[in-house]
Amino acid sequence: MEVKIDGITITNPDKIIYPKEKITKLDVVKYYKTVAKYMLPYLKNRVLCAIRCHGGINEECFFKKHPTTETENVNTIKINGEEYFYIKTEKDIIYQAQMGTLEFHTWGSKIKSINNPDFMIFDLDPATNVNLQKLRQGVLLVKEILDNLNLKSYLKTSGGKGYHIVVPFAKCKNWQSFKHFSHNIALLCEKLHPTLFTTSIRKKDRTGKIFVDYLRNEKGSTCVCAYSLRARIGAPVSLPISWQNLNKITPNEINMQTALKLINTQNPWKNIYETNQSLNK
Ligand code: ATP
Ligand code: MN
Repeated sequence: MEVKIDGITITNPDKIIYPKEKITKLDVVKYYKTVAKYMLPYLKNRVLCAIRCHGGINEECFFKKHPTTETENVNTIKINGEEYFYIKTEKDIIYQAQMGTLEFHTWGSKIKSINNPDFMIFDLDPATNVNLQKLRQGVLLVKEILDNLNLKSYLKTSGGKGYHIVVPFAKCKNWQSFKHFSHNIALLCEKLHPTLFTTSIRKKDRTGKIFVDYLRNEKGSTCVCAYSLRARIGAPVSLPISWQNLNKITPNEINMQTALKLINTQNPWKNIYETNQSLNK
């Protein structure tokens, strides 16, 4: 039977994408149809890198950065001679899901001002021997440092091991100062709480610590978009959560089903684009 969503024909709707949960391609497309309006503000007009797993999550997945053959149905932009793609509408999200995209990753700037980042990410990655309580303590300490600088920050689960803290800015003057600032925040975390945080990318320095990954704040780097599914067992979702819920929600407990239940009851990022925070003053 042919299935159409938003006028897009969904091929292989019954194909199993998450074998353990028996989630099909149609389930994935329907999930994105439901969350599209919530997701669009964070996805729209940003360079997209898509993770696709045509044979489901147990098969090989690939990170698609360039539109190649798809140019007819996607919006494209040339950056330094290379073609990238981006989402403009809810229908574009459905089209991506039809093409097999499971994870949506985006740049920290918008395509009209590609050199002026506005979405700063701190990705807190706990080493394997860091427990949840310690991770949460770390997340709150990063928030405290940002609070002390009068910077409003927002939280989401990664759908994996950690949490992502987002600091929205008015368009920053360039990537260099944007990254520099995020590096300084990470260094400050490490300096104030040296037993808890590290900024070292060397694995052996990270034992027992939380790696404050600020490296997503450079041109060309990406972070998984809010409301995106993850191509991992359990069909987890990277979901915006309120600061009050940090202690109630683990990094990977929100999945496709729970996300669908939660989205209508809360929107913890409602004012994220209204903070008017600036690095340029
Ligand atoms: P966790 O909480 O488990 O650390 P995460 O989302 O923070 O989850 P990863 O899923 O490991 O971390 O993502 C690593 C980063 O690398 C993300 O910023 C993502 O956008 C990027 N990324 C993922 N796959 C690729 C790839 N194949 N090529 C380039 N960058 C990638
Ligand atoms: Mn991470």
